[in-house]
Amino acid sequence: MKGEILSIGTELLMGELTDTNSSYIASQVPALGITIQRMSQVGDHLKDLTEAFAQALQRSEIVFSTGGLGPTQDDLTREAISAALGEEMKVDPVLLEDLKGWFRYRGAKMPPRNEKQATLIPSAASIPNNQGTAPGWWVEKDGKMIIAMPGPPGEMTNIWTSQVAPKLKGRVKGQVIITRNIKTTDLAEADVAERVAKYCETENPYLGIYAKHDGIHLRIIGRGSTEEEARELIRPVEEGIIAVMGHHVWGYDDDTPEGAVATALTEKGLTLATMESCTGGLLASNITDVPGSSKYFRGGIVTYSNQAKVASGVPAEIIEVHGAISQETAEAMANAARQRLDADIGIGITGVAGPSELEGKAVGTVFACISVDQRVKNLALRLPPRRAVVKHRSVTTALVELCRLLNEL
Ligand code: AMP
Ligand code: MG
Repeated sequence: MKGEILSIGTELLMGELTDTNSSYIASQVPALGITIQRMSQVGDHLKDLTEAFAQALQRSEIVFSTGGLGPTQDDLTREAISAALGEEMKVDPVLLEDLKGWFRYRGAKMPPRNEKQATLIPSAASIPNNQGTAPGWWVEKDGKMIIAMPGPPGEMTNIWTSQVAPKLKGRVKGQVIITRNIKTTDLAEADVAERVAKYCETENPYLGIYAKHDGIHLRIIGRGSTEEEARELIRPVEEGIIAVMGHHVWGYDDDTPEGAVATALTEKGLTLATMESCTGGLLASNITDVPGSSKYFRGGIVTYSNQAKVASGVPAEIIEVHGAISQETAEAMANAARQRLDADIGIGITGVAGPSELEGKAVGTVFACISVDQRVKNLALRLPPRRAVVKHRSVTTALVELCRLLNEL
């Protein structure tokens, strides 16, 4: 089935808002048998929107839209769909009661302008939204569908997973595409390619190899007439890749480095502490993005100056002899973090985030160390010389390497 996506909102055209809704929908529909052939962004103008819906319906069997379902004058998605289909919007008494109830629940009276959020046309059914005032519209007419969803990404994805995807599943006749992403670390792209070479020869399943900031990703794509058929094609390739990649695999699909660290530390019952210089606390911040991280994360110390490093337990001689930007200092930081915060594992990171070099070391030079028991894992990185990239990549690499180390323990 051919589909397209319309993202609605003038903010998108002004560059004020990044269209994450389209990417989300585009990533979800291949598994349902829908192929997206076009994505467009349209401002809050009735004529443009009406045209956009009318043209999309001519080209595609299913049109997904997000945004423009709010109560204000510039929220025109319902009006545009009605105009494109030549149908009249009417307030639905049941929806109106629901909406009034939503406001009552929050101790407020419904402003009159919210009434239009309770409207429908004959071809539309409401898609309930328990996280906001804007219900979606599920429109079916002349063999075509429009699924109009609210703009706020949290509300949209909630509606998607709870209602839209389950309802579309099984209704769509088309080739189903399933992907499985295996995330690896500590091997160069060419090494990985050699190990998995025998799986690269088929079109279905197809194996793609991608170098990403958190390691090499192996993406298996399977196509079949059903989800099960596509999964069956992927399974032997996935098993084979896991066997040849061994402990270099740190995660799958949506796994994040900090999530994988959380799982591994919890499984092994180990605790972690950090000492950071050039990353300024980003490592601790990412670790604590995971709910429940207090169970294994003892804490992090940001030692941005040499003085702070020494005050936090890094021997002054190490910095004097080797410099603050050195493997020795990173190791001393990892050990000091472990001791000071009484953790099983310590991570130290020191480097040059830029824009100027430091101690004669180039921007992008980063030393990190992971210290566990009697072992240390040293990482010497040369990252692209951009401040944000240096910070981000140092943290990701340290976390991914920690995962790999934990897998080996
Ligand atoms: P709207 O439903 O058009 O009033 O959109 C409400 C809010 O949802 C906007 O202010 C944005 O914060 C967010 N939003 C709308 N469309 C998108 C989109 N395509 N991608 C990401 N966020 C969006
Ligand atoms: Mg809007």
